Amino acid sequence: MANPNILLIYTGGTIGMIKDFKTGVLKAFDFKNLLDKIPELLLLECAIETVSFKDPIDSSNMNLEYWVQIAELIEFNYDNYDGFVVLHGSDTMSYTASALSFMLENLTKPVVFTGSQLPIGDLRTDAKENLITSIQMASLQENGKPVVKEVCLYFEYKLYRANRTTKLNAENFKAFASLNYPELAESGVHLKVNADYLLKPDLEKKMIVHKDLDPNIALIKLFPGITEAFLKSVLTTEGLKAVILETFGAGNCTTESWFLSLLKETINRGIHIINTTQCVGGSVMMGHYETSNQLRIMGVVSGKDITTEAALCKLMYLLGLNMSEKEFKTNFETSLRGEMS
Ligand code: ASP
Repeated sequence: MANPNILLIYTGGTIGMIKDFKTGVLKAFDFKNLLDKIPELLLLECAIETVSFKDPIDSSNMNLEYWVQIAELIEFNYDNYDGFVVLHGSDTMSYTASALSFMLENLTKPVVFTGSQLPIGDLRTDAKENLITSIQMASLQENGKPVVKEVCLYFEYKLYRANRTTKLNAENFKAFASLNYPELAESGVHLKVNADYLLKPDLEKKMIVHKDLDPNIALIKLFPGITEAFLKSVLTTEGLKAVILETFGAGNCTTESWFLSLLKETINRGIHIINTTQCVGGSVMMGHYETSNQLRIMGVVSGKDITTEAALCKLMYLLGLNMSEKEFKTNFETSLRGEMS
């Protein structure tokens, strides 16, 4: 059987930088010379081709146009490759990878995001292991078909479902966590795939690429002492269509009457309010406490155990589909790409 073809897409971030030993400055690495710099890649049983953003970016500059650019690179090359590895800065990797999970409907090939905390040219770099194992994960096949058929994120020996991840640490090599869903695979002496946790898409369906994302949304993190003036100013933003309310614990919030009336009035204006928890693990359970029951009654949408990153991307994706209010609530509360339990 022929070796799998892998397309490596370089968007930017620390992983693709090398130090200029004369000046000590970090600069973008020319991915055309990848095999010269990392000869270990020649040992992998796959063919690797690379494509790079014209001007690689720090992922803090990531935006919706770049998301479409990544989606189109995958769309245009979909039939010619067995898997895709996207090199991306770690800072916003969970957002981009979550967005791509919604944009690529009926995906049946692996799209593995990875990056690193240290540049590829650094002596103690984590980039090589992350890159090499990501390519191996994207190359895994069974009976000539990819084992992984979803958007994932690989970092520090673990393969995660991308839309379940959050960047938790700005320094540790173990920068990401997926607290509400188990790892899809682990790299030790052997690559151990947890097959039961992988998405099993319908292989007959054709991939649909969604590029109309609607960014008219807001994210509000509640805190004790939040004022009516602040909340009102956000909720009356021109063009606003939906709000993610990061609440306390299992989806709880203040029961002060100004707060509840403001939310009710906002919903009556046709703006969706989604309840997600500020906790990195666990789920919203509206109605479990008195402090969340009013939200349930007024029609707030439950984000259940979704991450904030995935919630924002799901919101932009669903708003882009222009559905009715009822359809929107049902769709948001349903797991579309394995993003919620
Ligand atoms: N600031 C960098 C970025 O996200 C950090 C990294 O690559 O890990 O692009």
